[in-house]
Amino acid sequence: MSFTTRFAPSPTGPLHLGHAYSALLAHDQAKAEGGKFLLRIEDIDSTRARPQWEAQIYDDLHWLGITWDGAPMRQSDRLPTYQQALGQLWARGLLYPCKCSRKDINAALSAPQEGAEPIFGPDGPVYPGTCRPGADNQAPNPGTPLPSGDALRLNMTAALAALDGRALRFEETDLAPGTYQIPAKDLITGVGDIVLSRRDFPGSYHLSVVLDDAAQGITHVIRGADLFDATQIHVLLQQLLDLPTPTYTHHRLIRDDQGKRLAKRDDARAIARYREEGATPQDIRKMVGL
Ligand code: GLU
Repeated sequence: MSFTTRFAPSPTGPLHLGHAYSALLAHDQAKAEGGKFLLRIEDIDSTRARPQWEAQIYDDLHWLGITWDGAPMRQSDRLPTYQQALGQLWARGLLYPCKCSRKDINAALSAPQEGAEPIFGPDGPVYPGTCRPGADNQAPNPGTPLPSGDALRLNMTAALAALDGRALRFEETDLAPGTYQIPAKDLITGVGDIVLSRRDFPGSYHLSVVLDDAAQGITHVIRGADLFDATQIHVLLQQLLDLPTPTYTHHRLIRDDQGKRLAKRDDARAIARYREEGATPQDIRKMVGL
C-alpha cells in the first residue's frame, strides 16, 4: 500500500517543540514505510502569515534533518481550486451567505429566548442559525454566481441530506485507535453550519485542508490530537466533494512544564531558540520523546 503524508504548518510564528514532534513523526514514518513526505504552507490567513516565518520553517526543518519530496504546496496559490469547490457546493444549494459578526453570534446565543447554554464545536460556539434559509430568510438561488463579500456557511442539514445515506467514517491509528463512525446528529448539534468561505478569503481551514490533502495524494494524515474533533468535518467534506478519506493519526500534544499545550507565542519553546542555545537535532528528538 502506498504511503504519503505531510506536514502543514501555518507561517504565523516560530515552529516550536510541538511542531518538531509532528514533523519528525510524519517524516520518520514516511521513511520507514518507503513512502513520501510532503510539505504544505498553510498561509491562507494573510493577516497573520509572514514570509519571514515561512523562511524560518524551511530553515528549522532542514536543521532537524527533515527533507521533503517535491516543492512545498502553498495555500495562497490555490484560490481557484477553493473557488471551484465552493461554486460546486453553492450550485447544489449547500451554502448560504452569512453577515453575522462574532459579536452578533455571541449576542444571539446569549439572548434569553435561546435558553440552553451554547454548545462549542471545533470552530467555537455552534452557529445559532441567524442567516440560515428558513422562515425569515429566503433560500439563495443556486443558479446565481457564487456571492462574494459575505462569509458562506455550509447548511449542515442540507449537506447531510445530500450524502444520500453515504456513511461518514474514518480510521484512527493513534488516539483510541479504531474505526470511527460519525453520527449525522452529532454534526447537527455539535458542529452546525460552519464557515467554508471567509469574508476576507474565499476558503477556510476546513475546506482547504480537505482539497489540499486530496491534491497532494495524502494517504495518511499525521497531526496533533487538537485536530481530532475537526476530522468529522473533513470526512463530511470529502464525501460531499467525492474525495478519498485518508487514514488519520492524531498524536499526543507536547506540553509545557505546567501541562499547557504549546502555542505559537511560546517563543521559549521555539526551535530557533534551542538552536541559538546550542542544542542539537538529537537533543530536540530526545525532548519530544523520540
Ligand atoms: N496548519 C495547521 C496547524 O499549523 C495544521 C493543519 C493540519 O495538519 O491539518 O496547526
